[in-house]
Amino acid sequence: MSFDTIIKEIYEEIKQIDNIGKIASYIPELLKVDSNSFGVYFSSNKGDNLGVGDYQDKFSIQSIAKVLSLSLAYSIKGELIWERLGVEPSGTSYNSLTQLETDRGIPRNPFINAGAIVITDILISNLPEYRKSFLDFVQALSGKKTINYSEKIAASEKEVGYRNIALCNFIKSFGNIKNNPEDVLDFYFDICSLEMNCEELSTSFSFLANQGINPYNNTQILTKSQSKRINALMQTCGFYDESGEFAFKVGLPGKSGVGGGIVAIHPGEYVISVWSPKLNKKGNSFKGIRFLEKFTTESRFSIF
Ligand code: GLN
Repeated sequence: MSFDTIIKEIYEEIKQIDNIGKIASYIPELLKVDSNSFGVYFSSNKGDNLGVGDYQDKFSIQSIAKVLSLSLAYSIKGELIWERLGVEPSGTSYNSLTQLETDRGIPRNPFINAGAIVITDILISNLPEYRKSFLDFVQALSGKKTINYSEKIAASEKEVGYRNIALCNFIKSFGNIKNNPEDVLDFYFDICSLEMNCEELSTSFSFLANQGINPYNNTQILTKSQSKRINALMQTCGFYDESGEFAFKVGLPGKSGVGGGIVAIHPGEYVISVWSPKLNKKGNSFKGIRFLEKFTTESRFSIF
C-alpha cells in the first residue's frame, strides 16, 4: 500500500474514535481552539507530500518550538551549551520543579520547561535582537514570512505563568540564568506562542530529516553530528514522562506541544506533523499519538 492510502485510511479511522483527551486549559487563550480540529502533513525526502484534514489551519506550536530554539542556540554556541543543561530524560512532567534542587539548577534536558528557559537565556546573551533573530530563523526554515508569534497567547500565558516564573527564578538562584528573569520569561512565552500549520511545521523541521541541511534552500542549519544529537534528544526526551512509551509505540524521534501538535521525524526519510488539540494525561495529543502509532505500525516504517 502507498503512503497516501495508509495516511488517508488511518486519518479516517482515528477521526472517528472517541477522544478522551482534554484541551490544555491552564493557558486560557488555548481554550478558544476548535477541539475537533485534526490535521496531518507528511513530507518525504524523496519529494512525496500529502496533507489531510485541517493541515492548513494554524495552531499554537508551544513546546515544539523548543527544538527550534535549541537548534539556533546550538548553531551559535556549539557543544558549550551542554555546560548549562543535561541530555538525560527527566521522567517528570514538562513543568516539574522537583529535580532542579538536587541537580543544582542544571535542567536535565532542553525539552522540559526548565531546560528551554536556560536555552532562552543563552539566546538572549548571544543575539542583540533576539526576538527578531529567532523569528527570522524560523521564517527562513519554513520559507514563510507569515509565521509569527501570537501576542495574545504569549500574554495569556504570562498572566498565569506562575510555575514558569518559579522555575526561572529558581534556576537563577543557582546562577544558571544570566539575564533578567523577566526578560527571559517574556521571550520564552513568545517562543512558545509561535503559530504554524502542519505543513509549515513539517517544512521547518525538514533539516532534521536531512542531516542538518534545509532541503528547500540548501542551507546548513546544523552539522550532521548536531542534527543526529537533536534527533536523539527528541527520541529520549521529546514527550517528557511519556517519551519511553512514544519510542515503544511509535518508534520515531518527535516533539509535542500543549497546543496539540506533534512533529515526528524519520532521519533520512520523512517528517510527519499531526495536530489534534485534546491532550492525554501527560500533556501530549491523544489522537496525535494514536495516529502516529498506527502510521508506523501499518507502514512498517519507523527507525527500529
Ligand atoms: N508554554 C507551555 C508552558 O511553558 C509549553 C508547555 C508544553 O507545550 N508542553 O507551560
